[in-house]
Amino acid sequence: MSDQNFDVIVIGGGPAGYHAAIRAAQLGLKTACIDAWTGADGKAALGGTCLNVGCIPSKALLDSSKQFWNLTQHFDVHGITTKDAAIDVKTMVGRKDKIVKQFTGGVAMLFKQNKIASFLGKGKLLKDRQVEITAPDGGKQVISGTNIIIATGSTPIELPFAKFDGKAIVDNAGALAFDAVPKRLGVIGAGVIGLELGSVWKRLGADVTVIEALPDFLAVADADVARTAAREFAKQGLKIELGAKLSKAEVKGNEVHLSYAGKDGEKQLVVDKLLVAVGRRAYTDGLLGDGTGVSLDERGRVVVDEHCWTGVDGVWAVGDCVRGPMLAHKGFEEGIAVAELIAGKAGHVNLDTIPWVIYTEPEIAWVGKTEAQCKADNIPYKTGSFPFAAVGRAVAMNEPAGFVKVIAHAETDRILGCHIVGANASELIAECVVAMEFKGSAEDLARIVHAHPTLSEAVHEAAMSVDKRAIHKA
Ligand code: FAD
Repeated sequence: MSDQNFDVIVIGGGPAGYHAAIRAAQLGLKTACIDAWTGADGKAALGGTCLNVGCIPSKALLDSSKQFWNLTQHFDVHGITTKDAAIDVKTMVGRKDKIVKQFTGGVAMLFKQNKIASFLGKGKLLKDRQVEITAPDGGKQVISGTNIIIATGSTPIELPFAKFDGKAIVDNAGALAFDAVPKRLGVIGAGVIGLELGSVWKRLGADVTVIEALPDFLAVADADVARTAAREFAKQGLKIELGAKLSKAEVKGNEVHLSYAGKDGEKQLVVDKLLVAVGRRAYTDGLLGDGTGVSLDERGRVVVDEHCWTGVDGVWAVGDCVRGPMLAHKGFEEGIAVAELIAGKAGHVNLDTIPWVIYTEPEIAWVGKTEAQCKADNIPYKTGSFPFAAVGRAVAMNEPAGFVKVIAHAETDRILGCHIVGANASELIAECVVAMEFKGSAEDLARIVHAHPTLSEAVHEAAMSVDKRAIHKA
């Protein structure tokens, strides 16, 4: 096999693509990965949105801002007094940048160790599984593969009347790199990204207003969870305007002047920075040459079947650029599954048990169906819930907000969904995912021994509560 021929070529080195590449190489396949992302130094920065401007940097800033928030708002109950607490945004953002570098560098090292040929540039799929690579200096070369895995990810949706300028009107990348706390921050979109990044700057002292077009808050989550989360966010001073449609965003000097149609008519708001977080779209711009046979749907996503196969011999697609939730772990697993299928092994991703997490305070996490979905699908169900306020560990941690809710089939008791709002929901949900993946029942969860005192007791008691036998609940 020549240097230009590979068993597997992955286009895109984000979480979906780099997992696919590493697994393919582990399975003995000669693998190449093409990625276009460069860091501030102009050098390759593998890891895509997730490592560069998504999951990891947002969690770094969420953690810094949580430390500051606790210091200024919560330490007094422990008898700890703090005076003159201050945040140095440059240090905080510098720490985040260091973490990003550590992880993007880590992926490059894994590529080297697994002997993956790494190409910096933009890949374009040509017919007959040839891929043209355009390097940052414009130089072109063509490589070919027996299998191609498209993993080109997604990009923020831009509003035509609020275009990103990287300074006053920003996307997620911009909101992760402010050099000072904005006095007034406007956020368009109360989805995961808007809520997480809105929380970061709110905790550091910004006056944050979130403008959301939908009439219901967090409509994707279970209604009880959304209600509790909305109440907790309001307590923190996060202002959320629902049913509000932005119509204009004008930069005037150092301010952004917003006009939007709210519930009570036309409204104006002046902010110092505006984060537009109205969703992401699959990034497939310029990806396909003539005659590849690969189709895109009406949203620009690569069309695939349940095995991430495009229908064209040897061409697959994974991650944010295909159907399903835009989550890094969904992409990881698709990448691994496709590499295993290519190597002749079994590979599969169950889209019904993908956990969702929102890393706000309190955290929100769920897997499976909401009550509303059960009703819509005419599935008979029963529920059990348990509040963290009755869990010793949560109270000892001074984090009593929220609850766990388990939804089970009314006749078979099989778990249909688990919904958590509260401390460490992101970690607690894993147990529910495992239970669902093993087709467990609420009784299975209820009969499993949970360590005391831990937050996981809320999951245990919620499962017991499905059959009205929670111990610490009347
Ligand atoms: P991407 O990460 O977008 O990677 C695609 C890569 O392909 C990029 O490097 C891109 O440059 C490259 N590329 C594109 N086109 C080409 C081409 N033609 N040639 C070569 N290279 C190309 N998800 C979670 O699960 N948990 C979280 O906590 C979380 N937090 C997030 C926070 C924020 C602020 C954002 C924006 C997203 C977050 N996400 C989170 C979503 C997560 O980042 C994405 O789901 C994930 O990155 C998708 O992985 P991917 O590999 O499909 O695509």
